[in-house]
This record gives sequence, C-alpha cells and structure tokens, in this order.
Amino acid sequence: MKVYKFGGASVRSAEGVRNLRHIVEDERGGLFVIVSAMGKTTNALETVVDHFMAGRREEALAAFEVSVAYHNGIVEELFGGADVPASVSSSAPVSVPASVTALYDEARAVLASPTPAGSDFERWYDRIVSYGELLSTTIVSEYLNASGVANRWVDMRECFATDDRFKYASVDMEATEIRLKAIVLSEALRGEGSASDTGGAGDAGGVNVFVGQGFIGASPAGETTTLGREGSDYSAAVVASALDAESVSIWKDVPGVLNADPKIFPESTFIPELTYLDAIELAFSGAQIIHPKTIKPLQNKNIPLYVRPFGDKHAVGSVIREKIAAPVEVPILILKREQVLMTIRPRDYSFVLEEKMGDIFAVFERFGIKANLVQTSAVSMSVSIDRTRHLDELAGALEAGGFAVRYNEDMELLTVRGYTPECLQRYGRGPEVYLAQRTRRILRIVRPRTV
Ligand code: ASP
Ligand code: MG
Repeated sequence: MKVYKFGGASVRSAEGVRNLRHIVEDERGGLFVIVSAMGKTTNALETVVDHFMAGRREEALAAFEVSVAYHNGIVEELFGGADVPASVSSSAPVSVPASVTALYDEARAVLASPTPAGSDFERWYDRIVSYGELLSTTIVSEYLNASGVANRWVDMRECFATDDRFKYASVDMEATEIRLKAIVLSEALRGEGSASDTGGAGDAGGVNVFVGQGFIGASPAGETTTLGREGSDYSAAVVASALDAESVSIWKDVPGVLNADPKIFPESTFIPELTYLDAIELAFSGAQIIHPKTIKPLQNKNIPLYVRPFGDKHAVGSVIREKIAAPVEVPILILKREQVLMTIRPRDYSFVLEEKMGDIFAVFERFGIKANLVQTSAVSMSVSIDRTRHLDELAGALEAGGFAVRYNEDMELLTVRGYTPECLQRYGRGPEVYLAQRTRRILRIVRPRTV
C-alpha cells in the first residue's frame, strides 16, 4: 500500500483533478489517496461559519453558494470533457453527480439550523468546514470512477477516531488502525469473492484504490471533528502508519524540499534527502513544507515520506527518512515575517536584569505572546515577537511594571541553519541588521521587512 496526498492547490481546478488522475492511473498496488479541500475552500467556509455563528443566516447561505458555484464549475468541466466516456459525458447539459448535490443539500440544511450558542463555535466550525473535504473527495472519486480508475470513497469520519476537542482534535491511533484495516480488508475479500463468482451481475469486485478526506474525523459521539488547519498531511501519515504503507508521497507545486522559499530567495536549491529530524526542525522553524505533526507517525514505523512535484509524476522529488546517504550540506533559510522587535529596560537601571526576566515573561504570557528570539545586554533585553493586536496593551503593562519599552514594528526574523561564510557576509552584517545572534551552526538576524 502507498499513500498519496494532494493538497488544495493541486486540486483547485479541473485541470488539477485530471492531473491527479494521471498520477494515480497506473498505480497497480494498493493506493490510499488523501485529498484536501479544493483551492481556498477551507478559508471560504470559515467565512460561512463566521456569518452563521453571528446569526447572519442569509449571508452564510450566500457565501456557501459561492463555494457551490466554484465546485460546479470544476464538475462541469470534468464531466463535460472528452476524457470521460460518452456514457457519462454525452448528455448536455452536464449533470452534477447526485452524491455531490446531496452534499450541497446537507450543508444547506445545516446552515438552516437555529443559530447555536457562541460557546459551540468549534463544534459548528468542524461541522461546516468539513464539507470542503467531503466535496473534494466526492468529486475526485466520482471522476476517477467515471474515467476508468475504480476506487472506493471512504468517509474518514468512520475511520479517524478522535477526541472531542473540536477544531484541534487528536487521533486515537489504535482505534483508527482497526477501522482502516477493516475497510481495506473488506475490499480484498470482495475481490476474492467476485473472482470465484461466475456471473456476479455488475459487481466490479474489490478495488485497491481508496479516496478519503484529509483533515477530518469524528468524536466518540460521532460528531465531525477537524485536526487543525493544514492537517491533511498529518491524515496521510496516520493512514500510512495504520496500514504499514511502504511510503507516503505529498504532491506539491514545488520540485521537492527546497532550502529556502523560492518566492523570497532566488538562490534556493533542491534538497534530495533529509532525515526525519531535519524535517521536524524545518517544520517548526516556519518552513512551510509539511505539517510538523506529520513526521512522528512515519518515524515510528520508518516509512519514507516523499515530497514530489505535482507537475511531473516521474520526478523523484525529495525523500525524508531515518537514514540518508549524506547530510544536508546547503544552508537552510527560513524567514518569519510580521515581527516586532521590542527592547525592554528596567527604569531604575538595575544591573540585575536576570531577576526581572521572570516579571517580563509573566507579562508576555498574560498576553499569550511567544518570544521567537531573546537577547540580553547589561541593562536591557531585546525580544522578537509575532505581531499582535495587543501591542499597546503589552507595552502599557510592561511600563506599569517599571520598565521602559521601545519597539520597531514591520520587522522580520531570518534563521540560517548551517550558514556558510558567504551567508554570514551577506546576511549577518550591515545597517539593516538590527540584531544578530549566532551559534556555530545557526545564524539569526532581525531586520526591517524585505518582502
Ligand atoms: N483544507 C484544510 C486546510 O486548508 C486542511 C489541509 O489543507 O491540509 O487547512
Ligand atoms: Mg493545504
């Protein structure tokens, strides 16, 4: 069994879905395909949730209809196109598969419910936002079936057993494994049954391609849950681990893992191999290759993770696994944007800043602010924090505690792992470097934003 994961960008158009088919069509072994919501659908549905929870029923429905129109556009192109056999595509106007319209109706019925209490926000969020993945997988599964790639649509709410922490649910691996295995096994048995059958009317036998939603599951009470934004990579890893898959491939719009975001750093290069540990470090420092939670389930079973280019199915991409032939040699650049550089000094010029540090961090904690970089001098402390709406209140609270506060907004934090002398020359000096910190391996600087 292999697991393939396709993100929203890969299936944002009919062309993307056709390309997905092109990628999966000649897989002969078992394949479990995990799909995210199409394009920016999750964001669009978040807006629907906001309207709905605020009691703006009309706006919620109208916003949902925009998503319906978007999905219908894709469906019409797919099922009206020449790539679907005549039996499916001949009749004009193109009809939207009943399974898809059923989902539209189901969602509309949810949106017609009385406005729930505000405290139920997360529960309703999951119930509504999950239609993104339900729709994308239904369309993909129908299209594959209609175009000769027999597959089974899997409702992952029946497989992913989660707790009921809505919006950030955790997966019960053991229960999930049992359910996933049961589904795969039932297809295998169906296959055997039909092979010995003499004339099972219309029964295609067992399939070995499965199509399921990323990002969603269900609570013990059977209510829909979601696993946190961008959680589909994690879903793919859970499926792979449960089914002892030989590998996971995440298909993306990049050649593989790069040492830097090519949209920001023109000198970005491809990294063919990384260890699980490299990948975890990268994910946590803000490199948006894969969701940080993805690695652990794979590492436990030593399943390699490929990051592959959606546009070229024969390219190997990058592989992330336990042991690699040679360590990563190129420096890795990660840019964290929207930073505020704050300098805090005890107003009494006390030289024992250490004693005051606890007070400063207590104030940060009160405002839910995480320090991304800290540097102390004899009489002051500089901190790079994420931009926050509470900046004035934060500064006010520190001032009330006896500190003088100054800050620069519109900053960015650049981290260079494994920096070279050239990197140091290029990024580590100059008037635009407001603060620099380095160890033997890592260089970090705070500077005014460049992008
Ligand atoms: N559709 C979800 C999101 O946009 C999950 C995912 O794409 O991984 O966050
Ligand atoms: Mg995504």
